Amino acid sequence: AVAAFDPVACVNGSVSPPVGQVQEIPSYTDYATYRANGGYALAAAVASGQVRHEAVLKAMEDSGLRGLGGAGFPAGRKWRIVRDQPAPRMFAVNIDEGEPGTFKDRTYLERDPHRFLEGLLVAAQVVGTEAVYIYLRDEYHACRALLQQELAKLRADPPCPLPPIIELRRGAGAYICGEESAMIESIEGKRGEPRMRPPYIAQVGLFGRPTLEHNFETLYWVRDIVQRGPQWFSSFGRNGRKGLRSFSVSGRVRYPGVKLAPAGITVRELIDEFCGGMQEGHEFYAYLPGGASGGILPASMGDIPLDFDTLQPHGCFIGSAAVMVLSKHDRARDAALNVMRFFEHESCGQCTPCRVGTAKAAALMDAPRWDNATLDDLSNVMGDASICGLGQAAPNPIRCVQQHFAHEI
Ligand code: SF4
Repeated sequence: AVAAFDPVACVNGSVSPPVGQVQEIPSYTDYATYRANGGYALAAAVASGQVRHEAVLKAMEDSGLRGLGGAGFPAGRKWRIVRDQPAPRMFAVNIDEGEPGTFKDRTYLERDPHRFLEGLLVAAQVVGTEAVYIYLRDEYHACRALLQQELAKLRADPPCPLPPIIELRRGAGAYICGEESAMIESIEGKRGEPRMRPPYIAQVGLFGRPTLEHNFETLYWVRDIVQRGPQWFSSFGRNGRKGLRSFSVSGRVRYPGVKLAPAGITVRELIDEFCGGMQEGHEFYAYLPGGASGGILPASMGDIPLDFDTLQPHGCFIGSAAVMVLSKHDRARDAALNVMRFFEHESCGQCTPCRVGTAKAAALMDAPRWDNATLDDLSNVMGDASICGLGQAAPNPIRCVQQHFAHEI
């Protein structure tokens, strides 16, 4: 039997591998073990009316939980908005996890899939959605097998009435399908291209119906927030911020991995307290606080609390909390060029500022000396005129390098 994954123990470091230990994928908590440890009691209590929908909504709102896929929209408020729309309502779950450097959803899914599925069932009941589509990154082969297996067990012995449709859909490797409206297009069988908004998908989403859309991790925390109380979640936090964040840390740190840490922790604290410091022979130079799109900051700005809203004044954002750490062996301009080539490759091509702009920017950034005037012009057009966040955020690495690493260009 596998011990139930305990997120609190994880915070304390007893599940997250202790410093110095190789991280291995443990066996996951299966359906029987999860139920034996009190799992699905909440979903059943919500179904029986023992726990009222309004109480769940209130707990979600009071916890301050925000969408952990990157956008950071308050989860409880989203539930209320979609619940107030006319039925039938749809539910789309995003496990595309294509943001470079992000691997938290996979880590949790491989260990404790039913904590996520219980959150999904609670949300489906409270919001009143009739069909659930789980959109899974196709590269996560083991996760697909695992979810198929565990969904079959759930259907065979349901702890509460299940939505009539729970479908597991495979993505096809497009980064843009992590954008909610592009994901919905993909689930509908079309090209994964972002939609113009409004209307928002909460009103007109999957198959034209009001749609609740959530990232995997947002649902993963529902059970603990409702059962332990919203104060439990909001009691974590540092530097004036509240809650927990799962940072996917990679780069020149001694022990990379998923680090469940208080919201508002700084990158210096994260490196020193959760990652065993920098690798031997490497000195902290720069960091990407939010994957490819979140910008690049110098080590001298390593004391900014990492959370939603705290990085915006510096032209950056935390997104899905993928923190990449660079050392003095690296150059920020190389990281920025790598990111721009990625955007060029992943642009869906629907709008010209992004399709052409990312390609032109990558070519300009490859020159020994940057043509800053032309790059500024391109950045403005991409930021102002792109349809979705990919094109709008693509200039972030350019601006960060110009501002903080001018000596490199
Ligand atoms: Fe597609 Fe880029 Fe336009 Fe987004 S900004 S719709 S990814 S071309």
